Amino acid sequence: MRRRFRLPAAVALLLAGCVSVAAADGGSGGTGVVVHDGAVFTVVGERSDGWVVDTPCRTEIFLDEGDQFRSVDVVLDPGHGGPETGSVGANGLVERDVNLWVALLARAELEDLGYTVVLTREVDLHMGIVQRANVANALSPSAFVSIHHNGGAVRRSQKPGTETFHQYGSDESTRLAGLLFEEVQTALDVWDVRWVDTVHKGASSRIRSDGTDVYGVLRLTPDLPSAIIEAAYLSNAPEAELLADPEVLVAEAGAIARALDRFLTSADPGSGFNEAFVDAATTGTGTGWNCDDSAYGRWTSVATGYTEQEYADLVAMAAWVGRSPESLQRFGVYALDFFHALGGRVSLDPLPPEAIPVVSGISVPVDVTLPWSPADQVLLTRVADAYGLSPAEAQKVGAVLMVFLIGISG
Ligand SMILES: [Zn+2]
Repeated sequence: MRRRFRLPAAVALLLAGCVSVAAADGGSGGTGVVVHDGAVFTVVGERSDGWVVDTPCRTEIFLDEGDQFRSVDVVLDPGHGGPETGSVGANGLVERDVNLWVALLARAELEDLGYTVVLTREVDLHMGIVQRANVANALSPSAFVSIHHNGGAVRRSQKPGTETFHQYGSDESTRLAGLLFEEVQTALDVWDVRWVDTVHKGASSRIRSDGTDVYGVLRLTPDLPSAIIEAAYLSNAPEAELLADPEVLVAEAGAIARALDRFLTSADPGSGFNEAFVDAATTGTGTGWNCDDSAYGRWTSVATGYTEQEYADLVAMAAWVGRSPESLQRFGVYALDFFHALGGRVSLDPLPPEAIPVVSGISVPVDVTLPWSPADQVLLTRVADAYGLSPAEAQKVGAVLMVFLIGISG
């Protein structure tokens, strides 16, 4: 009968022998974001070999390639992405794509004007509101603009129904929204189509009854001047046709860039201001629900060498608890992390050199290679750092620990 493996309480005490109280080591914090393959990751920690980052789905992973930005002048947020399409035109045009095209064009315009710009996404991908705000906050830009195209209105209008939204009670955000409205509505107005609008045409605050902003990108970036632009109604067939014309997107993007340039270089107040309105209803997207981040980062393999005796012990103990030698190694790393966390605010001293096992060379003829997901690499490197080991050594210490624990509990 298979024994059920449990960690005996005595083991914790025993391990305390190699645990000593030391000043808390928070590791190296991180700043900014890393852009890789069009996805944007907020930096949680910096390492010599890469970064611990948050993915667009808000999973911590290890990333070893990409371009880091610590701060920029402007962050643009192309709304929606992936399964969250936003509004869809009668011609099949999808808001998530139009938002991205306009953002890319606006970035080019702004870069021509000498500004540094980061987009929250450069490709079509799923991303929640919180991570969009996190990206903006991580870069402390002078302005943050979320780019959308509208749906819903049916009221005929002589002019474009451009809406912008600002943070309630923020003068700078209000000015930013007023300038965005002024520039974008003027730019679109040169086309003569059957526009639609609502009473919210112009620059507004959409707030909940407690006075906080309804929109997460505004509410979650309280230290930044942030605004949302809803440039035209994709749900209105004539406007959807218009938005299918690249010339129109270039004009809209140019208007957004001009608005930002005026915001950053003048005290122009903007125009089109409405009274704040209370409306708690949200669109229901932006939660990042079911966000899939399996494509981010890359798996890595870490090989650890064992002597024949060590490996025989590992195989025997793994068989004893009904696991593979590989999974016992992995479990050992989790256990090391567990013991490290047990220390609470204390950290483990690095293991003394004589306690660090040999993991390669002639004396260790058996190699066990373990694959680690981008998320699990965060764990592996955390454990390795905590104990002053290489990842390969951490695997082996974990395995030796497991063999030891199973041995004494058997
Ligand atoms: Zn939208």
